Amino acid sequence: MTYRAGRHFLQIPGPTNVPDRVLRAIDRPTIDHRGPEFAALGKAVFEGMKRVFKTQGRVVIYPASGTGAWEAALVNTLSPGDSVLMYETGHFATLWQKMALKLGLKPEFLAGDWRTGADPEAIEKRLRADGERRIRAVCVVHNETSTGVTSRIGAVRRAIDAAGHPALLLVDTISSLASIDYRHDEWGVDVTVGGSQKGLMLPPGLSFNAISDKALEASRAAKLPKSYWGWDEMLASSPAGYFPYTPATNLLYGLREALGMLLDEEGLENVFARHQRHAEATRRAVRAWGLEVLASNPEEYSASLTAVLLPAGMDADRLRKIILERFDLSLGTGLGKVAGRVFRIGHLGDFNDLSLIGTLAGCEMGLTLAGVPLQAGGVAAAMSFLADGRLQEQRAAA
Ligand SMILES: *Cc1c(COP(=O)(O)O)cnc(C)c1O
Repeated sequence: MTYRAGRHFLQIPGPTNVPDRVLRAIDRPTIDHRGPEFAALGKAVFEGMKRVFKTQGRVVIYPASGTGAWEAALVNTLSPGDSVLMYETGHFATLWQKMALKLGLKPEFLAGDWRTGADPEAIEKRLRADGERRIRAVCVVHNETSTGVTSRIGAVRRAIDAAGHPALLLVDTISSLASIDYRHDEWGVDVTVGGSQKGLMLPPGLSFNAISDKALEASRAAKLPKSYWGWDEMLASSPAGYFPYTPATNLLYGLREALGMLLDEEGLENVFARHQRHAEATRRAVRAWGLEVLASNPEEYSASLTAVLLPAGMDADRLRKIILERFDLSLGTGLGKVAGRVFRIGHLGDFNDLSLIGTLAGCEMGLTLAGVPLQAGGVAAAMSFLADGRLQEQRAAA
């Protein structure tokens, strides 16, 4: 191995760059998770996560990747053979649907085009047709990380209410939490699923469920087998700041630090505005190159990542390989149906204007090296947007 000088640019849409402060917070001795010192840590992270989810309800923290919290959301609220309505926004929605099948649920998958978000009208129509009220839950991925499309969860809630349907609403926010505006209580979400390694700026290894009273009620009757994922013991220990089994103590040190930075120092609304601004600058670069953003509805553009469609016949993974080897910059691969056709630029987490410009410069040079037909000036377009306060005010007012 030879040493590569300078920092690696980790611009995949998760895991994201972990701030030095968070790394230093993690680099401390592990303490007794049943001792008195632990309770203050536990209480701080549960309280902080409630503020991130915007909920007065309950939060559970698992020592697991996001996939674990997906499973927890399903097994705690549903019973074998239950029908669930899921929406095919892209690769992650497809994986969640496959998990529901494996768990013995009956997922009905509303087809999507991988360029737009969950369609509230289609959901309302399907729920209205469910006269016997067999559908027990509606599952939506808030920010589909394979396509860079953000679904309108408030509108999905209104669709469920308009149909007068009692189904629970389960939402995956793994790549939007603490990057894109999200309101668990206000939007009437029953279970929100989150993960540590994206907007929360932590290493992988923690995941979350935020739980409404209605979901808690449903969990008392839910019959899917569960042990590790069971909410009951978690919720019995968490008011005192404890866990029923060994938590990922050092990651919780990191979480406490990250929550302070996001909630108290920068402020969540500023965090959201920063992500929107970087997403807009990225789209301006992509268009100046003459390339296409995969997301097709401007109301649903993701603020945490942008998926870029290459011209037919160009191999996106070869492009990513060139960019990694030449510039030490990691970009997201195309997943599922769009494999090889798109690359994804992650602009979430601990990120600023110059990290974006460096990332876009790596893309522009790599696109040229890979022989992608290109107009120059993408980086310049992003720079003019970032440097022009007026453009940004216009955009914020729009
Ligand atoms: C990353 C991601 C997941 C998977 O999370 P893991 O931590 O890899 O298990 C699920 N859903 C979405 C939307 C994601 O971005």
